[in-house]
Amino acid sequence: MQVEAISRALEANNFDAHVVKSRAAANEAMLSLIPRDTTVGVGDSATIRQIGILERLVKRGTKLLNPFSRELTTDPSKRDVRHELSRAVFTTNVLITGTNAVTLDGKLVNIDAVGNRVAAMIFGPKEVIIVVGRNKIVRDVDAALHRIKNVIAPYHARTKDFATPCARTGRCSDCDSLDRLCNVTTILEKRPWRTAMTIILVDEDLGLSWDETWPPKRISKIKSNYEGVTWVFARA
Ligand code: SF4
Repeated sequence: MQVEAISRALEANNFDAHVVKSRAAANEAMLSLIPRDTTVGVGDSATIRQIGILERLVKRGTKLLNPFSRELTTDPSKRDVRHELSRAVFTTNVLITGTNAVTLDGKLVNIDAVGNRVAAMIFGPKEVIIVVGRNKIVRDVDAALHRIKNVIAPYHARTKDFATPCARTGRCSDCDSLDRLCNVTTILEKRPWRTAMTIILVDEDLGLSWDETWPPKRISKIKSNYEGVTWVFARA
């Protein structure tokens, strides 16, 4: 399995890595890693919403700080609450989130518009748990950046109604748009010193990523699963 090889590469880069077969198994792994009586921050991630871990954590009584709930992201009057919550995530014990790409040699590559997700991945929460579907695996950092800017960002922009050129053309033009999504790029080459970091590799397609050479049926399933857990954010 390719995920097993990625797991070994991540471990060589000082990350803790777990391989699971399904989203259900990812949930169980997370529930065993996260103490019940702790506070969990959430970084915006379709993968995290897809696997259903947020509902499981709430149900067992774990406190969640989730600035990216539908309620907070669609109501413009909740903008200040959302921003305060985004800052509060930096002081939580555990952050759960996804990544845009993982390379064959175990690097995590991400691009953010705001930067709160990637900043909290690096420092703040004592422990970070990142869930990655097999469809996020790419050859290397160049392939990751190419895919993020020419597959993920254009589709993300179109789905969320951002007025970027790539939303129209499907290709990155290194834009100057006020809606530009690609403002902060991070490459986690090795685990940062002060943060415990666990990567859960799931042998399923999760979140937004695909290779354009894959069969159309697989790509359209990834798209429709993503669309089921995303929505247009209120501009703020
Ligand atoms: S830089 Fe602009 S055009 Fe390029 S992918 Fe990002 S948002 Fe789209």
